[in-house]
Amino acid sequence: MFKQRKVLSSILVVAMVALLITSLTSTPTNAWWIFGEDSQEESQVKTKQTNKQPKYVFLFIGDGMAASQRQLASYFLKAKTGNQDAQLTMNKLPVGGMNTTYASNTLVTDSAAAGTALATGYKTNKGMIGQLPNGTSVRTIIEAAEAKGMGTGVISTMRLTHATPASFLAHNESRYNPNQIAEDIAQSNVDFLAGGGYRHFIPKTAKKSERKDNKNLVKVFKDKDYKTFVGDPQGFRAYKPKKGDKVFAPLTASHLPYELDRNPNTTPSLAEITQKGINTLVKHDNGFVMMVEGGRIDYAGHANSPATVANDVLAFDKAVQKAYRFYKKHPKETLIVVTGDHETGGLGLGFKNNYFLNIDKLLPIKSSLDQLNYTGDRKAFFTSLKKDYGLTNLTAKEKAKIEKAMNLADAGKKLVNYMPGWMSPVNAMVAKIVSARAGLFWTTYAHTGTAVPLTAAGVGANNFSGYKDNTQVAKEMANLLDLKLTNLK
Ligand SMILES: [Zn+2]
Repeated sequence: MFKQRKVLSSILVVAMVALLITSLTSTPTNAWWIFGEDSQEESQVKTKQTNKQPKYVFLFIGDGMAASQRQLASYFLKAKTGNQDAQLTMNKLPVGGMNTTYASNTLVTDSAAAGTALATGYKTNKGMIGQLPNGTSVRTIIEAAEAKGMGTGVISTMRLTHATPASFLAHNESRYNPNQIAEDIAQSNVDFLAGGGYRHFIPKTAKKSERKDNKNLVKVFKDKDYKTFVGDPQGFRAYKPKKGDKVFAPLTASHLPYELDRNPNTTPSLAEITQKGINTLVKHDNGFVMMVEGGRIDYAGHANSPATVANDVLAFDKAVQKAYRFYKKHPKETLIVVTGDHETGGLGLGFKNNYFLNIDKLLPIKSSLDQLNYTGDRKAFFTSLKKDYGLTNLTAKEKAKIEKAMNLADAGKKLVNYMPGWMSPVNAMVAKIVSARAGLFWTTYAHTGTAVPLTAAGVGANNFSGYKDNTQVAKEMANLLDLKLTNLK
């Protein structure tokens, strides 16, 4: 290195002397700039700028995932693998921060207001999608990246019309207008769309449709040359992305299943979908911005079901792992940000005077509560609790509690509104017992107002550190990518 430099500098000296003589004896030439210091500085500045600006950007959102959910999944992973050093990829990222999540009109937000904050950098009211409280639509980072000519992707385990993906793709006064939101999504021109929820894209006459009109939004995608995989997970799996491809893949009529209930032979994992998104968008000349949501962590939290939460956080983390591997191959061009939109369930790791957690008690659980179905046959139900829920040695007190809930169910009561729907009092009691055995406690079937942790790696990751508000995520991302987040009208 030293020798090379010495040789180079002697060549430079000779060249300079030669040029000086030339400039003194003949008319000035434009050859000066070849050796000039200015051009060298300029190219250094340029390299610095490209190093500052990521080309490939991942925003991972665990819906309903705050510190408790990340920690529960981390302990669950150690228990499951028997390896005390096992760690979630998202918890290994070098930059850490916290974000407040409150909405404009309430301190306890929902996925619409929180998604809008993360997507646009603006606070809004609970329930609103991509709009300010006064109804003005605001541009999302996905729309801004699309307008700038970057590749764009939105992936979710929820219906694509659901609050979080909708916040990046649509503008509506209410999250409860999924058919209108679907029309916005069909107009979005986003390059890679995958998740659940084809029921809002097909005409009302089609099987499983939830539309009230005859609009066929799948045709809108087809007319724009999208590769479409509507209720076709196997076709999606077999698909090999080519340069210039656009993908519309609502794989199920409604949400994708919980990780605990997913059949790997028939339904791709969030990690597999994310990898397909990477393989598609990496062919784009101008880089990409991709939002990936682990949406069902939230529903598992609403149901107060700790094993379902832990398994869905792990599935989400495996998707983060795909991005992390990509980052290792493109470390100077990639940014990964992992955060949550709010906390769900008020999950406490520990309760009463117990100084312990027994996370291993969650390991035998084979399904979500959705699969537990008490139909009046008490013996069969207790057998299924033994077989699928690890409840092999119920105490008399626990059994009495479940029987009391069975009495309510037998009387036709659906007591528990766990927000996404109504839950059998029997399932609610099972969730309580399972949680208590593990040392866990829940304060609510809804959301809470606690802050959420954020971790990040790669180009510009440091901009996301510190105790900030969720609106900063979109603002920092827009800053890094030179995107304009403004009012649309
Ligand atoms: Zn929720």
